[in-house]
Amino acid sequence: MHTALVCIAINRKMGAANMSDYMEIINPQTRIARLYYQGEVVEEYKVEQCDKCSKLTKFDAFGYQIGYDKTEKIIWFCGDCR
Ligand SMILES: [Zn+2]
Repeated sequence: MHTALVCIAINRKMGAANMSDYMEIINPQTRIARLYYQGEVVEEYKVEQCDKCSKLTKFDAFGYQIGYDKTEKIIWFCGDCR
C-alpha cells in the first residue's frame, strides 16, 4: 500500500512513468540541483526558492519580480506562480 503510493507520487513528479530512472537531488545549502539518470549526473543547475509558494525549483532569470524602485531584483517566483 505504502509502496504503491510512493510510486504514484514519483511518476507524477517526473511527468512520465518511463522517467523513473531519473532522480533529482537538490542541495538546499548550495542551491545546486543535480539530475541523475541511472546513477550518473546528466545535468546540474541552479535552483531558487520561490517567494510565493516556497518551492525549490529550477532557476531562470525571468522569474525575478521588479521591486517598487524598478531596479531591485529581490523577489523570485517559480514558473507556476508567475
Ligand atoms: Zn511558486
